[in-house]
Amino acid sequence: MASNEVRTHTALHVLKGAASKVLGVKWTAGTFVDGSHGRLAIQLNRKPLDEEISRIEAEANMKIKEDAEIEELQLDRVEAGKLWGNSIYDVFPIPAHIMNLKILHIRNWNVNACKELHTKKTGEIGSLRIVKTRYRDTKELLEISFDIFAERS
Ligand SMILES: [Zn+2]
Repeated sequence: MASNEVRTHTALHVLKGAASKVLGVKWTAGTFVDGSHGRLAIQLNRKPLDEEISRIEAEANMKIKEDAEIEELQLDRVEAGKLWGNSIYDVFPIPAHIMNLKILHIRNWNVNACKELHTKKTGEIGSLRIVKTRYRDTKELLEISFDIFAERS
């Protein structure tokens, strides 16, 4: 069984995919993991509705329940760019001298250059609950705080 940190980190990718689907967001501005607690900060130009937050949580849990495969690929930066464009990047840049990228890929959900450890399948996360959101107008940032639970939702 993967550690809480690995499961929580993997949940960040699942949550990001759900937020992209519901809100059309593209850029991750920050991530935080502490045990089974995590926080995702994404760029968004408006305050989301409560209903949208509920949908993000539901979509994330559906993707977990689907037990989708998590692929990790080692790819040349130029090749990765050809496949996925700048979707693989976050707000924080990867130094130009790094030419080989580790890519996390959850098919039709999330693709991201990421060197952290991940679970093999989304089901290993268990389930996820959004505990708090905060929208920061001046920075156009949405912060989503969540907890993960070993049991399925
Ligand atoms: Zn990752």
